[in-house]
Amino acid sequence: MQLEHVQFEVEDAVGVITLDRPEAANAQSPKVLVELDQAWNAADEDSRVKVIVFKTNGKHFSAGHDMSATDGGSDYSDWKADAHYDWETRHYLRYAKAWRDIPKPSIAAVQGKCIAAGLMLCWPCDLIIAAENAEFSDPVLHMGILGVELHAHTWEFGARKAKELLFTGGSVNAEEARELGMVNKVVPLEELVPATMEMANRIALMDSFALRMAKRAVNHTLDVQGYTTAIDTCFDMHHFGHTRAALVTGGMPSLAGLSSMKDKGKK
Ligand code: ZN
Repeated sequence: MQLEHVQFEVEDAVGVITLDRPEAANAQSPKVLVELDQAWNAADEDSRVKVIVFKTNGKHFSAGHDMSATDGGSDYSDWKADAHYDWETRHYLRYAKAWRDIPKPSIAAVQGKCIAAGLMLCWPCDLIIAAENAEFSDPVLHMGILGVELHAHTWEFGARKAKELLFTGGSVNAEEARELGMVNKVVPLEELVPATMEMANRIALMDSFALRMAKRAVNHTLDVQGYTTAIDTCFDMHHFGHTRAALVTGGMPSLAGLSSMKDKGKK
C-alpha cells in the first residue's frame, strides 16, 4: 500500500496503522483523512489481521484538522453551507463512525497533545492506551462552534466534565482521562508502543468471531442508549455553528476565521 502520510503494516495478527505527518503535528488534511480511511479498510479486509493498532509518529498524537488550504484543502473563498455540510459528513463524521464499526477490535496509542479532531482519531478505537504525557482537549468553542464534528464528549468524559472542557477549552491529562474511563491504561512514553502491541497480541489470542460479537454488543448497547442518534444530531448543531459563524464573518465558517481575517486586515 503506497500512501504519503499513512503506513499500514501487518505484524503477526496485528494490523498497524501509523499516521506519519510529525512535521505538521499529525494534523489531518483532506489527503490524510482519505489515506487513513484506505488504511482502516485495508486492515478490515486483510484476513491476517485480528486486531488493529492505530498510532501516530512524532511528539504529538494529532493537532486536529489541517485548516490550511494545502494538501487537498479548500481556501474557503467560495464557502457554501450545503457543500461544507456534505464535505464534513463524508470526511469527518462518516469516517469516524465507520472506523468505530469495523468488526475487528482496535487500540489507539496516544502521546503528547490530542487536540480537537485528534479525538476523532482515538475515540473510534475500542481501547485507548495513553502515554503519561498525553493531553486531551477540544477548544473548538473558540471558533463559535460547540466542539468537533463527532460529539462523543458526553459519552467519553461524562456530562459534567464534558461541559467543563467545552466551556473552558481546557484539557485533561492521561491519568485524569483514565479516571474518567476514557483511557484504559497509562504507561511511560517509551513503553507506549510496546504496551499497545502487547495488549493487541493478547487480544489476538481470542476467537475472532467472539471478539466481533463482544464489540458489537458494547457498541450496540451504546446505540440503544442513543449514541449514534446523539452524534448525528450534534453534528447538525455543529453545522448550525459553522453557518451562524459564516453569517457573522461574512464567509469564513468559524469565528476564529474572523480573527484571522482581522489579522490580515481584510475586515
Ligand atoms: Zn466542522
